[in-house]
Amino acid sequence: MRDEIPIAVAYGDGIGPEIMSATLHILEEAGVPLKIHKVEIGEKVYLKGHPTGIEPATWNTLRQTKAFLKAPITTPQGGGFKSLNVTIRTTFGLYANVRPCVAYSPFIATKHPKMDIVIVRENEEDLYSGIEYKHTPDVAHSLKIISKQGSEKIIRYAFEYARRHNRKKVTCFTKDNIMKLSDGLFHNIFNEIAKEYPHIENEHWIVDIGTAKLADTPEIFDVLVMPNLYGDILSDVGAQISGSVGLAGSANIGDTVSMFEAIHGSAPRRAGQNLANPSGLIQAAVLMLLHLEEYENAARIQNSWLSTIEQGIHTYDIYKNETSKQKVGTQEFAEAVVKNLGNNPHTLPIVSYKEKKQPVTAFPFLPETNVKRELVGVDVFFYDKTSASLFLDKIVPFDVAPLYLTLVSNRGARIWPEGQPETFCIEEWRCRFANKGNLVTQFEILKLLQRLADASFDITQVENLYLFNEEPGFSSAQG
Ligand code: NAD
Repeated sequence: MRDEIPIAVAYGDGIGPEIMSATLHILEEAGVPLKIHKVEIGEKVYLKGHPTGIEPATWNTLRQTKAFLKAPITTPQGGGFKSLNVTIRTTFGLYANVRPCVAYSPFIATKHPKMDIVIVRENEEDLYSGIEYKHTPDVAHSLKIISKQGSEKIIRYAFEYARRHNRKKVTCFTKDNIMKLSDGLFHNIFNEIAKEYPHIENEHWIVDIGTAKLADTPEIFDVLVMPNLYGDILSDVGAQISGSVGLAGSANIGDTVSMFEAIHGSAPRRAGQNLANPSGLIQAAVLMLLHLEEYENAARIQNSWLSTIEQGIHTYDIYKNETSKQKVGTQEFAEAVVKNLGNNPHTLPIVSYKEKKQPVTAFPFLPETNVKRELVGVDVFFYDKTSASLFLDKIVPFDVAPLYLTLVSNRGARIWPEGQPETFCIEEWRCRFANKGNLVTQFEILKLLQRLADASFDITQVENLYLFNEEPGFSSAQG
C-alpha cells in the first residue's frame, strides 16, 4: 500500500460544492491515494467575522498538507472584506499562476481550433497588493507595485516552464508605453532573463494590441507572461475563446505551498442546479497531480476526461447541436469521466506526462548592481476645491527656498507652467518642488511641509523624488 498524500480541500461557495464533489469522485475512483483534510473558507467564514474569509487554524492545515485543492468562493459585497484568494496567494508567496487554455476542436466549438497557450500570470503584486487610498471625497488611488524580485520570479518561471514543456516561445505583455517605470521594469527584466534562454524565442507586445491578437489569432502564441491584472483578465478571455470559461484550471505555485483551482468564480446563478461544468476544477486537479509527481494518475484522468469530451458528453456551457451528443449535469459528467477511466481519446492527442517535471521553484536572483540613489525633490499633493486659477494664485508665489515650485499638475496633466485653459481639473493637485537640479535633504522637505501646513495648505500625500544612476525614478507631467 502506498502512503496517502495529504491534501487540503475547500468546497467553496455557489457552484463550488457541486464541482468539488464531482472532482473528488473522479480522483477517488481513479484510486489516487489522497488523504483529504477539509477546510472551511469563503462566504460563511467571512460572515462569521473573519475579514479575509479564512479561519486562523486553516493556515496550519494548508502549511502541513502537500497541496490545496480549492473550489471558487463568493466574496461578500461591501467594504471590510479582503479577497481570500489574494490573501492566500500573498501570505504563502504563491507567485506563479499558471493557466493553460487549450482548444478541444472539433469536439468543443471554438473559432480557434489550433489554440494551445499557457498564461503565466504574476500572482503577488501589481494592483492586487490591495493598497488603496481616498484622500479627498471624490478621488481614489490604487497602488500598482512591480518589483525586480517579483518580476524575476515569474518571468524565470515562464521560461523554465517553456523549457521543460518543450514550448518554443515566451511572449511578454505590458503597457510600458504608459507605465514606463512599473511595466517598464517588468519588460526590462523580461529582456534580461530572455538572454539566458537563447533557444526559446521571445517577444513583447503592448497589452492592448496583444489582447486583440490573442482574441483573433491565439495560435500565434505559446507561453505568455504578464503582470497580475493583465493575466487575470486575459486568462478569462483565453479560456472563453477556447470553448468556455468553465474549462480552464490553474496552478498557484509557491516555494512551499501550492493551490489549485478553476479559473472561474462561484457562478451563484448556476448554483444548486447540477448545471455547472466541473472541467475547470478537474483540470486543476490534474495540475495538482502533476505537481505531486503523480504522473500516471494525472494522465489517466486527463485521457478519460478527453475521451468524455470526444464522446460529446457535454455540460450546458459547451453543449452545441453540431458538436455535442448528450447534454448532462455536473454529476453525470463526472460519472462519464469515471466510466472512461482507462480509455484514451481517439482523435485528440493522448497525453503522457512522464517526462514533464514541473519547473523548479527556487531560483537565484539576478546579481545586485550598485545603484547611485539621490534625493532631488518632492511631489506634494493637495486637496483644494476652488479652481485652477485660484489654487495657482496661492501656490505659485509661495516662497519655499531652497525648494522651488517647478510644476503643478492635475491628474498628471500639466497646469503650470504653460498649462492650457481647457484642461479639466479635479480637487487634487500635485506640486513638484526641487532645488534647481541640486540634491535636497529630508530636513529641507520637512521644513517645506511645515511651512505649507503653517499656511493652511491641505496636504494629502508626499512622494520623494529620486534619481537612480542619474535617471529619474519618477514620471514627468503630460502636456
Ligand atoms: P463567475 O466566473 O463565477 O461566473 C460568470 C459566468 O460564467 C456564470 O454566470 C456562468 O455563466 C459562467 N460560468 C462560470 N463558471 C462556470 C462553470 N463551471 N460552468 C458553467 N458556466 C460557468 O464570475 P462572477 O459572476 O463575476 O463572480 C461570481 C463570484 O465568484 C463573485 O463573488 C466573485 O468574487 C467570485 N470569484 C471567485 C473566484 C475564486 O474563488 N477563485 C474567482 C473569480 C470570481
